[in-house]
Amino acid sequence: MEQNHPEPRVNLHTHTFRCRHAVGTPADYCEAARKYNFDILGFSDHAPFPDERYHGSRMFFRELEGYCRDVASAREQFPDLRVLTGLEVEYCPDLGENYYSEELLGKAGLDYLIGAAHFVTMPDGSIHPFYSQQPESPEVIRAFLRQTLRTLEHLPIVMLAHPDGFASTVPRMTPDLRAGFRDIIAVAVNRGIPLEINANGMRRGTFSVDGIERYRYPWEPFWELAAEAGATVVIGSDAHQPEHLILQYKECEDLARRFGLPIVNRVVAETILAGKKPTDYGAALSELPEKERVP
Ligand SMILES: [Zn+2]
Ligand SMILES: [Zn+2]
Repeated sequence: MEQNHPEPRVNLHTHTFRCRHAVGTPADYCEAARKYNFDILGFSDHAPFPDERYHGSRMFFRELEGYCRDVASAREQFPDLRVLTGLEVEYCPDLGENYYSEELLGKAGLDYLIGAAHFVTMPDGSIHPFYSQQPESPEVIRAFLRQTLRTLEHLPIVMLAHPDGFASTVPRMTPDLRAGFRDIIAVAVNRGIPLEINANGMRRGTFSVDGIERYRYPWEPFWELAAEAGATVVIGSDAHQPEHLILQYKECEDLARRFGLPIVNRVVAETILAGKKPTDYGAALSELPEKERVP
């Protein structure tokens, strides 16, 4: 255990080997969680789809059961940790909203979902991923803004992962982008959905535009707007290796504090643990006195 961070930490954004671009079993991450002084660990591997779309970055649909079973057995193996089973979902309108609430949260019995936009469908039907590091056209940026908004509007999610992730492809702010960011933040605030400050973006390193060095994401101009609008934030390790749990976690907390953004990791986790439905969740968050919002 670390000496200089007496408050235990909470992380709800953890991947496993099943997504094919991460390493480690749920038990490996639980062991690391204990080592780094986390007391609540939520697994949110990339969600599979019945038609296996986007399979390159996720488990097969038939592996979902094994994933849930592995997390459940890690929970038994580490009784001093509180362990949650979730998934990181993409918004796919053709599946219908019931897919998320009835299939994943219902039948599959998951505790929670986090939303993210990793892929967008362009007007010509082609699919575009966000993790490119090349500057993208205004059409692609618009598609990401739209997809991120829909994710917030339609899905039963407890938080939005890397809302500024596609800033990895954005060299500089434009009036359109600022307006799009404001729309995303306004819907998040309205629905009581916290926005994630994502440590994985920091781990992707910095680049330089107009002589200014910055991370791919989190991108500070986004968080400045989030603070202005009264958003709440969750710090997300977005761990793809067990030791990622702790890397840049404090740097993300520092970013939140610099902008005066309330960190609500524990509030979100406790709400899930209390068995509240995602629809109750926004209300639970907004009813909290300000001082309880910061762990
Ligand atoms: Zn991933
Ligand atoms: Zn993730």
